[in-house]
Amino acid sequence: MSFVGSPEFSRMRVSGRLPAPKGIALQVIQLTQQPEASNQALAKLISSDPAFSARVLKAANILFANSQRPVTTVLDAVMVLGVRGIRQLVFGIALISDYGKGSCRQFDYQRYWAASLLTGIAARKLVQQASLAAADEIFVVGLLGNIGKLALATVYPDEFGTLLAQSDGKTFAKLAELERHAFGFDESELAEAILADMNFPKLFQGMVRYVWQPGNTDAVESSREWRLLHLLHTAVLLAECLLAAPQDRQGLIARLKSQATRIAMDGEKLAQIGDDSLIEWREWSVFLNLGFKIGPESLTEILQTAESDAVTDTEAPLVHVMPNSYPLRTLVVEDDPATLKLLETILREAGHSVSVASNGAEALEIIAKELPQLVISDWMMPKMDGVTLCRKLRQSVHTSNLHVVLLTVHEDPNKLVEAFEAGVDDYLVKPVSPKILFARLRAAQRVIQLQEELAFDREQLQRFSKELTVANQRLQQLALTDELTGLPNRRAAMERITQEWSLTLRGDRPLSCLMVDIDHFKSVNDRFGHPVGDLALRHVAQILSQAARAQDVVYRFGGEEFLVVCPDTDAQDAYHCAERMRVEIHSIPVAGVSPPLQLTISTGVGSVKAGKLTLDELLSQADQRLYAAKQAGRNCTIWRD
Ligand code: GH3
Ligand code: MG
Ligand code: MG
Ligand code: MG
Repeated sequence: MSFVGSPEFSRMRVSGRLPAPKGIALQVIQLTQQPEASNQALAKLISSDPAFSARVLKAANILFANSQRPVTTVLDAVMVLGVRGIRQLVFGIALISDYGKGSCRQFDYQRYWAASLLTGIAARKLVQQASLAAADEIFVVGLLGNIGKLALATVYPDEFGTLLAQSDGKTFAKLAELERHAFGFDESELAEAILADMNFPKLFQGMVRYVWQPGNTDAVESSREWRLLHLLHTAVLLAECLLAAPQDRQGLIARLKSQATRIAMDGEKLAQIGDDSLIEWREWSVFLNLGFKIGPESLTEILQTAESDAVTDTEAPLVHVMPNSYPLRTLVVEDDPATLKLLETILREAGHSVSVASNGAEALEIIAKELPQLVISDWMMPKMDGVTLCRKLRQSVHTSNLHVVLLTVHEDPNKLVEAFEAGVDDYLVKPVSPKILFARLRAAQRVIQLQEELAFDREQLQRFSKELTVANQRLQQLALTDELTGLPNRRAAMERITQEWSLTLRGDRPLSCLMVDIDHFKSVNDRFGHPVGDLALRHVAQILSQAARAQDVVYRFGGEEFLVVCPDTDAQDAYHCAERMRVEIHSIPVAGVSPPLQLTISTGVGSVKAGKLTLDELLSQADQRLYAAKQAGRNCTIWRD
């Protein structure tokens, strides 16, 4: 079970001590959570606090520094960031200003925010560099990736302070273990729960959970989620390297370098991103008033120093990866052990993960379990050959897009046509030349990357359209519902009665409506005040709905007037319905009001059969009879002239 649903987290949340935005930021976040919130309304709310809007503007300008024109108004900022972007950004910058200090003595709040901000900036640059979507959102995920730590310092300043002293700045794993022992959960679980509570996308919740230990994620290796997580982890290490004192840096640098190879980034590019991040960090730290300095060394200088010290990481050995490659999950299917071994070695050295099978049937089993991104298969094999394997893959929705490269000894055009007709994407001639293999791999990587990005975009689109549908439904519901009583309103009444009326044109189905008005309601307000008047209206609404038959619908038609639509009902039956309602109202006092308040209603019945009256005539008939009922002394029903 996720920690967000646990009793511990509920207790922390209701204690009101979890880090949370306050004041204007809180209002902005709440507004963005309402589906009907417009960009204008958001901009107006943000602008009502000049200091806050200056921060939002500044932040938007730094985030969009590369775009053609500067963001000059708050409305601009809202539009370029989008509602979700604004929510996340506001959340982050509000926390920085509200939690710059606190009561946990062992916790360095300023360093915490310096590191978090640098992580956010670096994460964004890394994600942009890798051309993955979600670069703007990743900034906030980086910024809030360690929010569990801040939350512990805020909610349990003394206990957490003791743990910090015990762990003595040692590894993350050590501190997390102490936390689990003391609290029953650790800061990563808490961070995930806080993001879930703030409605961040699931993808990001999972990322903050494993940002310090990406090896523990369930995300499939080389999937988009896996890559985003590893980019974020790289950003964390990068920030830690820049913040660490020179004597504490060595191990961190080794880890950063090894992590960089895992995301296929060369040292020069990494240093460049680190240097750019630091420049941008200085810009942010000025307008956010961060009282922390980083430097003076740049990441380039730090890495150069480390180079000459020749540090190697013993925990995670460096692997040789082609720069800028896109690591794939591959499956090699080949019955000849020597070729199989050769391909496996080449692919592994290039940074791809490799599974192996010796025929098509075996391959199908592995594919079902591991869903690789690329299959390189020999043609001639016992049990099931490569072309048959490919044909089978194309028949299943799960594997129809899988990229398949066929190994073949012959380049006979007729044979190749057969292979392409079976659905192979590409072929390689045996014996395989590593050079040609890499050229083909690059083409495959491009196709696979594009396909995955498309799938991701499609998923996002589906999510947006779902959100939009919900918002539209809510809007429609709002437009047709009376807020005070919860009954459908006059507009809904008119829609319905128009429909029912047109049905009467077609046959001899009768239709009746009851125009109901509370007697002497003005005096209720006068005697008891408006709030009791409202209560009385809700009371009447409820009794009318309960007394109505299943097919009848009660609407609030105006102030203290209700309309009941009774399909398939003639005037006399409608009269009986109205009387039942009248007697109920008359016999049940309004609960909780003293002296006791006993209401009465007057009702006029309108009826039509076979379209003999127009809709207007029908309604006006009911209205005239209501008037007649008032004239007759109230607390009665008139159903004929
Ligand atoms: P009659 O028996 O002739 O219908 O007398 P009445 O006092 O009910 O009629 P009138 O139309 O003069 O007054 C209706 C009152 O209903 C006036 C208005 O203040 C009150 N009213 C209308 N809507 C609301 C509402 O939403 N809440 C409250 N508390 N009062 C309302
Ligand atoms: Mg063979
Ligand atoms: Mg009235
Ligand atoms: Mg009235």
